[in-house]
Amino acid sequence: MDETSITSLYPDLVEQASNAIVVVDENDRIVLFNGAAEQLWGRNRDEVIGASISKLMPPMKDGQHAFTQSEIDHLVGHNVELPIERPNNTRVWAEISVSHVQADNKTMRLVTARNITLTKVHKAFRYEILRAMAQTNSLPEIMTLLCQEIERIAPEISATIAKVDDGRLHSLVAPDFPSEHAHLIDGLEIGPKTSSQGIAAFRGESVLVRDIEHDPCWNVGRQETLALGYKACWSMPIKTRDSRMIGVLTFYYRVCRRPNKLHARLAEIAISLCVLAMERAESFSRIHHLAFFDDLTSLPNRSLLQVQANQAIAQATRHNERLAVLFIDIDRFKQVNDSLGHPAGDSLLRTVASRLREAIREVDILGRYSGDEFVIVLTQCDNVHASELAGRLLVALSAPCRIGEVTLNPAASIGISLFPENGRDMETLVHEADMAMYQAKQKGRGCFSFFTGQLNQIAKDRLTLETALRDAISANELEIYYQPQVNIETHQLHGVEALVRWNSNQLGKIPPARFIPLAEESGLISTLSQWVLNEACRQLSQWRLRGLAIPSISVNLSPTDFHNLNLKLPQYLEAILRSHGLRPNDLLVEITEGVLMDSNPSTMRTLNEIHALGVRLSIDDFGTGYSSLGYLRHLPVHELKLDQSFVRDLDDRATRALTNAVMHIGDSMELTVIAEGVEHPTQRNLLKAQGYQIIQGYLFSPPLPPTALERWLDENMSFTQWE
Ligand code: C2E
Ligand code: MG
Ligand code: MG
Repeated sequence: MDETSITSLYPDLVEQASNAIVVVDENDRIVLFNGAAEQLWGRNRDEVIGASISKLMPPMKDGQHAFTQSEIDHLVGHNVELPIERPNNTRVWAEISVSHVQADNKTMRLVTARNITLTKVHKAFRYEILRAMAQTNSLPEIMTLLCQEIERIAPEISATIAKVDDGRLHSLVAPDFPSEHAHLIDGLEIGPKTSSQGIAAFRGESVLVRDIEHDPCWNVGRQETLALGYKACWSMPIKTRDSRMIGVLTFYYRVCRRPNKLHARLAEIAISLCVLAMERAESFSRIHHLAFFDDLTSLPNRSLLQVQANQAIAQATRHNERLAVLFIDIDRFKQVNDSLGHPAGDSLLRTVASRLREAIREVDILGRYSGDEFVIVLTQCDNVHASELAGRLLVALSAPCRIGEVTLNPAASIGISLFPENGRDMETLVHEADMAMYQAKQKGRGCFSFFTGQLNQIAKDRLTLETALRDAISANELEIYYQPQVNIETHQLHGVEALVRWNSNQLGKIPPARFIPLAEESGLISTLSQWVLNEACRQLSQWRLRGLAIPSISVNLSPTDFHNLNLKLPQYLEAILRSHGLRPNDLLVEITEGVLMDSNPSTMRTLNEIHALGVRLSIDDFGTGYSSLGYLRHLPVHELKLDQSFVRDLDDRATRALTNAVMHIGDSMELTVIAEGVEHPTQRNLLKAQGYQIIQGYLFSPPLPPTALERWLDENMSFTQWE
């Protein structure tokens, strides 16, 4: 069968087929070559009819032609993709399939082929870029490769990619352009009359500028672009899958023209790859942020802080410089969290973080260490500079800040350690600064302290004490002493104050002034308070049962008990009283002015609820809180306890004037006033002359264990000796 017989059989079908059709006879000679084949191979049929099929196929690597008869037979039943070198030195890709056809008892081969160049470009392009993405995380590197691939496939294009961020353009890559070109678009606001990029991003659709020189919308960098030899360009928006505008891809041309089919295909692929790469870069940076930054304050977290600090230490070592580590802890943060709730605590943390950030230099390192703790590393800094900055930080932090309905005056304690004097690695320096911070807290909060060698010991002791106290509560090592309060007019017992005592098996006697603050800091206070309340009520109830006339019992509570909403203090008091068969009137709760001074609405609610219950409130250490007296009018308070320091200084005229004033305040507001710490008859006489009736102090009795108090009461029933 020859060409004429096949064409005569199916003349239209073969000639008009969109696929290339080639028929090869049993001697490998080409006998048919249709129009589509002429186009695909770029050859005229006159050239190839009668020639060997191997003429149409590219040489193999060893120089042999790919197609011999046996190889053609190998391809029967398969689709293969092969490159075709055209005589004009261009290359196209074809998908080729071969089948046997029988004609005139001869086995012919029917070769059909389809141009798949665009699909092939697509695949190769995608492959290159995806491979780059697998190898590097650097967005500019991937994007540069992407532009270069476009330019390799279509050398008439110069490609650029810009990022869109907050309505502005930022040059990402433009490998074919001089670096100054980036400045033309960097920071450019997107808008209807900017450049093709700005307009494309603004409209969210492709913008073709066929003639840059005469385009009416092109406002920015026209001359510069023309000077580089570009006459036309095509900008295409890059949008995420959820339609967020993130960039612009631009093809520049050196002649006035429009893009062709290949360009359109390249653009389509490039944009999908850009979306992938840019979204991936965004997720990477989000993951990086999550891993190394604190979500709440956006400050470096502990891990990043550690890395940055180690670098700073290494640099200081190299250059023989000094640096300081500041450990900052917010005072009474737990109370804010407990009483105002976590959102308020979060808001306070953010405020503190931003105040700290503003106060330091760019070269310094700041991070959130944990909870309410922050660390600053001050580079090139000695003790003088460190203390100057610490002082400034304390002032900056203490400015009032409004959180919800409440205005807080935040305060912090700062500990400082120095490199290289105190330590040469971050772990040691932070640990020492932390110890110094505790020292600062003990000095009275809102202060800073430097680390000293002694602090090491203090910190160790503290830890031992804290552990021992934890055990003491469960091991029943605590007990309560009771100190009588005496009415010097009627010679009657007014009440008793319950004072906790700790005689540790391991550490001996420890005064409350040492372990109560520790219990507050370590979160043990509410357990301790509950134990004291329960034990004091139990004791009073037992005394009552045995007929001892003890009018009431006063229990000291800590400010934290009022802020701890979990404890539900009023309900707790009610339950305890009920369980011991006592009336609310049997109990007084002593609180310090500190509780009253915070303007926290939940504290006021708690106080009012306790008052409503019938439990009386007493203000302990009255006169030391430097607070305005105005608040007294609004509080459901029953009693004032004049602070011991006034009693101690009664020799002083000014102090006497103050104790007199306290008496008048109490009188005019119909409050009971108790003078405590009275040790000498002269003190008692002076106070009595000022109108004080209730006295508590060593003059009558120190705090006593229950049985000793019973004895004391027994022995002092004849009240005359009190005079
Ligand atoms: P406070 O409530 O002002 O208790 C009075 C303190 O003065 C007691 O010290 C008492 O022993 C002492 N004192 C009494 N009379 C005299 C005197 O004539 N001269 C002198 N120099 N001192 C006298 P204490 O027991 O060491 O307690 C110290 C503070 O510890 C208490 O001050 C109170 O704030 C706190 N505290 C004691 N027990 C508890 C408790 O159960 N819970 C809480 N939260 N705090 C407690
Ligand atoms: Mg007290
Ligand atoms: Mg007191």
